[in-house]
Amino acid sequence: MPAPAHPAPPLPEPLRVPVADSHTHLDMQDGTVGDALAKAASVGVTTVVQIGCDVERAGWAAEVAAAHPSVHAAVALHPNEAPRLAEEGGPQALDAALAEIEKLAALPQVLAVGETGLDYFRTGEAGIAEQQRSFRAHIALAKRLGKALVIHDREAHDDVVRILREEGAPERTVFHCFSGGPDLARTCAEHGWFLSFAGNVTFKNAQPLRDALSAAPPELLLVETDAPFLTPAPYRGRPNAPYLVPVTLRAMAEVKDLSEDELAGHVAANTARAFGYEPRP
Ligand SMILES: [Zn+2]
Ligand SMILES: [Zn+2]
Repeated sequence: MPAPAHPAPPLPEPLRVPVADSHTHLDMQDGTVGDALAKAASVGVTTVVQIGCDVERAGWAAEVAAAHPSVHAAVALHPNEAPRLAEEGGPQALDAALAEIEKLAALPQVLAVGETGLDYFRTGEAGIAEQQRSFRAHIALAKRLGKALVIHDREAHDDVVRILREEGAPERTVFHCFSGGPDLARTCAEHGWFLSFAGNVTFKNAQPLRDALSAAPPELLLVETDAPFLTPAPYRGRPNAPYLVPVTLRAMAEVKDLSEDELAGHVAANTARAFGYEPRP
């Protein structure tokens, strides 16, 4: 058999201090959940937060979290899903889906509402009103249930921050796949919002992201894969998975001028605090 064109990257050196992948999509990755978790645990990624982006996938995320103690779930209508629903079925369709998300979000293994937020990269003018309405509804839901809020912010920093301030952010708010510069990092720090960095912080052209990371307090830092997307360098173009967290964490430690163990200790504690679970030994 010929070698696959895009083989899975090799296992990185295990972390000595175990951490969580704060944001992954196991439902979009090859292989079984059990294998993905075992591979991750073998390099010190002992916890993962599985994100469900529409009603069906949110149900799946809740099931997987119920079946695996190392998995926690987050559920929401993705910022690109909300306008799609409204476009197809009108505002009632969005409301009906939000009601389903609310039921799932109330489950004990679901620790967060997300990913929600704004995506001006993929959504045109016409979808923005419903996208913003959905974002506001998810903020309210997280507060009503006392859960964390996971934010997806793509080319929409100002409106994300404005709406969070208008609605009042939940006590625990995470900017997933942080994509701002040092200014947004300082705004997050002022409010105590967590910044979760993904593999793109390792990309050559990502100096603004590394500047943001430099400006962020270690007490608010998380790491994630957002797998199967955003595979860290030097493995770009190959499939991403939770076991690659150590690659990104090591690059972050270098930027922060912290030892790998120090940063991992912060990240492990921060992720547990952000999502409200007991850190695993
Ligand atoms: Zn996202
Ligand atoms: Zn995601």
